[in-house]
This record gives sequence, C-alpha cells and structure tokens, in this order.
Amino acid sequence: MSSTDTIEQPAESHAFQAEVARLLHLMVHSVYSNRDIFLRELISNAADACEKLRWLAVSDPALNADGAPLEIVIEADPAGRRLTVSDNGVGMTRQELVDNLGTIARSGTRAFLEQANAAKDAAAGQDGGAKDGSRLIGQFGVGFYSAFMVAARVVVTSRRAGSNEAWRWISDGQGTFEVAPADLADAPARGTRIVLELTEDAKDYAEETTVERVVKTYSAHVPVPIRFAKAGE
Ligand code: ADP
Ligand code: MG
Repeated sequence: MSSTDTIEQPAESHAFQAEVARLLHLMVHSVYSNRDIFLRELISNAADACEKLRWLAVSDPALNADGAPLEIVIEADPAGRRLTVSDNGVGMTRQELVDNLGTIARSGTRAFLEQANAAKDAAAGQDGGAKDGSRLIGQFGVGFYSAFMVAARVVVTSRRAGSNEAWRWISDGQGTFEVAPADLADAPARGTRIVLELTEDAKDYAEETTVERVVKTYSAHVPVPIRFAKAGE
C-alpha cells in the first residue's frame, strides 16, 4: 500500500456478551404489552449524555465550543418506518460504543437478569420464564437494549465531543453487532444519533402523534429540551 492510499477500515463484527445476548432474546421475544418504555430509556440516555457534556465542559470549555444549546431531537418518519433519537451530548468513541452497547455494566440490569432467571427456574418446564422476564422489563427499565422490543435493526452513529472521528454501531439484536467508521458529513457534529428501523408491528412508533404521547407520558421531567422534527429536516 502506498502512503497516499486511504486506509479503509472495514466493519468489525463483535459478539455480544452472553448476558446481553440473553437480555436481547428477552427483548425480541417480549410479550410485555407496554413497549412504550423503550423511548423513555433512549431519552434518558440522551439526557445523561447532555448532562455529562455539560459537566465535562466546565473544566474543558472547548468541548462545547460551538455553544449550541443541548437538546434531544426526535424524528418520526412513517414513510421510512423509522424513529430517530438524537442528542448533542458527549457522544461515544469507538471503544465506548463497543463497551457500552455490547456489555452490561449497569447493576439494575444485572438485578433484572437475576430475577428473570429466578422466575424462569420457578416456572421450570413451562413458558413462565419468558413471560415473567417481560413483566420485569417494565419494573426495571433495562436501558438501551429495550430498543429491540420495537426495532428490527438499530443504527447508532456517534461522535465523541472533541473527536474528529465518528463511528457507527449496527445490530439486528441477534447475537452480534458491527462497528465501522462513519463519514463525518453523515454524523452528528457532536453526540449520538440512534435510528430505529421499526418492525412491522411497531410501525406506530414512526407516527408523530404516538411519539408525542409517549414522550408526554414517560419523559415529562427530562432536564434537557426535547424537540420534534419532521423527516428530512
Ligand atoms: P445505563 O443508562 O443505565 O448506563 P443503558 O443500557 O441505558 O444503561 O446504556 C448503556 C450505556 O451506553 C450508558 O451508560 C452510556 O455509557 C451509553 N449510552 C447509551 N446511549 C447513549 C447516548 N445517547 N450518548 C452517550 N452514551 C450513551
Ligand atoms: Mg440508560
């Protein structure tokens, strides 16, 4: 390779940590009737990322040099059957995408899995395990992975504050995810964009009226403004 060649980094495939695979299985086969809560989880992560940026910018103002107000943008796209949640918070590096969206760090999620396992053992031989797991989802709120209750594929594009790289994380929730470099032109200037390619039976979540209702119900007290955008804006 000559020094003028562009170094093309191919998409790398990673296996989910075994616990994540188990959690995803519960999500995908969820019989939990209230799937609305996935949006609360994504909005809460977006708000956390904005708070983190705000905090880091106290000691390193360059991180928020553009002075753009921190916000969460939600775009419902019924024609494309997609729902997009974006934030201009701290963003994730390649390594953070792999670690944060490939393993489980959160103690609440571990507790959830333990209880789901206990419920399954108690219902040995029956299908009670999956049902109880689904009931527990609502009690615990199991974070990012709940997106797979409504999405056939999730595409996360992120640019960490202060970085001149952007990365894309893609998964269908079936055991593996891919990570590849993303074009800066096609990435948020800072922060994270999460596109949910909705399943046919979850296409309502691509309707603005549905999304606004869910946001009002579950995310009324989020400390970062939430704006609704029309597809293509
Ligand atoms: P929790 O929010 O309890 O840590 P989640 O499963 O909801 O668990 O999210 C896992 C991790 O992924 C978060 O802790 C965070 O590090 C990262 N993450 C998720 N969404 C975002 C986002 N929009 N911006 C930055 N980091 C994020
Ligand atoms: Mg979370």
